[in-house]
Amino acid sequence: MPQVQAPPPGFFADTEIVGREDHLRLHLNENPYGPPPGTVDAVRAEAASYLNRYPDSECAELRGRLAGHFGVTPDMIAVGNGTDELVLVTSMAFLREPGASVVTTATTFPGYVVSAAAVGARAHTVPLRDASIPVDGVVAAMEQGAELAFVCNPLNPTGAVLDRAGVTRLIDAAERSGTVLVFDEAYMDFAGQAHEFALDEVRKGRRILVTRTFSKAWGLASVRVGLVIGPQDLIGRINAVAGALPFNVNRPAQRAVLRALEQPEHIEQVRADNAQARELLYKSLDNLNIEHAPSVTNFVMVKVPGAPGEGTAPGDSVAFAARLAAEHRIFVRNLDVLGLPGYLRISVGTVDEVERLATALTALLEHH
Ligand code: PMP
Repeated sequence: MPQVQAPPPGFFADTEIVGREDHLRLHLNENPYGPPPGTVDAVRAEAASYLNRYPDSECAELRGRLAGHFGVTPDMIAVGNGTDELVLVTSMAFLREPGASVVTTATTFPGYVVSAAAVGARAHTVPLRDASIPVDGVVAAMEQGAELAFVCNPLNPTGAVLDRAGVTRLIDAAERSGTVLVFDEAYMDFAGQAHEFALDEVRKGRRILVTRTFSKAWGLASVRVGLVIGPQDLIGRINAVAGALPFNVNRPAQRAVLRALEQPEHIEQVRADNAQARELLYKSLDNLNIEHAPSVTNFVMVKVPGAPGEGTAPGDSVAFAARLAAEHRIFVRNLDVLGLPGYLRISVGTVDEVERLATALTALLEHH
């Protein structure tokens, strides 16, 4: 049986740096703009009245409203304590047989392989093609008989996104091989509707799953709400496992999302603000000759400049991230821990935050 694999060392060690004005959190792809107006009051009111009461275990009102928002029926939705939990529960639902395996890409969100190991399954990780999702490799791995596949689209940590042809090829292959294919679309709200091919296919009745989260563009990472959308029978199998966690989405969390969903324009605004700040980040990086990947998300993958005279090899991302934290109190994700030494993933932040980052990078490179 494979050993249970923990997230890479240090991956979540720095989540607790919060509420300190002088610290800039650009390491967790959070939303610096916060949730829609009224959401905090909704959480406060729910907590004030009902902290002694269990939440609705069916999340009936919430699933009803989510169904309306995503254009599906309530029985096509399972909700969980963040996408994190749904990745584990989905792994438990579909990796039941001895020797079962999951396919995913290398150097991405660690939850897929951590969950596979936790349920005793094998994980096949397909290397990226440049910085993009390796469609051919994932198709081949599904054809070899993987029971489950996770494709992070847009891709954390590079910011790349699949086109319609890529999504369709993956779905066709999954339906042929019988693999349960999950598109993790945690960052799709930043990319916008032009890239939402997978959800379109679910609405047409294709046999795939799509996850979404309220932690990113909706600005609700703290309350922990994610969902998975798909055909009724697959959602039924997920809910059968989730039945062991009947109260996994707490009352203030359900209320927060219900209130947030009344203001879908919020994520349009966040998407526009993020795109503007991302342009400024690109420009700042270009001015400093720092190479970066194009991104449709709220993070950008950056190559740490090498020492002068050392060719095109990236610099030391461990040291660079440590100096940004120690000398400028700016936290970024060092991708060494995901198998991409020499690269950083930097959350976009607000325009002011980008300016602070650019000042810090300029100072760091002067003494590089
Ligand atoms: N999937 C991806 C690709 C992520 O980056 C993250 C969070 N970093 C998650 C899932 C987990 O999100 P949640 O907060 O909904 O658990």
